[in-house]
Amino acid sequence: MRAQLAEIEERLAKMKKLPPKGSAIGFGKRVGDGTTEAVSRFTEVGIANNLEITAARIERALEKLAEGTYGVCDTCGEPIAEGRLRVSPASSNCIECARRQPAP
Ligand SMILES: [Zn+2]
Repeated sequence: MRAQLAEIEERLAKMKKLPPKGSAIGFGKRVGDGTTEAVSRFTEVGIANNLEITAARIERALEKLAEGTYGVCDTCGEPIAEGRLRVSPASSNCIECARRQPAP
């Protein structure tokens, strides 16, 4: 899991080197070109946001490992189902609590 975190942080660092949001949306170009660029830019921003959320989740999971609360729900304190941890090892909430408060 630490290797996964390092990989995500590396990808995040690369993402942050991209020009700031909106700067690549050209003016004075043909509408078709501008639209394509705008769409791909929005997609990249979306990926960066998802990576940040994933990195935050993994950091929290590593904290829980250090605290000895890994596999225990942050919200209700009940054990997180093994199947859920297998699918999503960075889970810090049980499925019931995750459903009640979806990830940001
Ligand atoms: Zn819970």
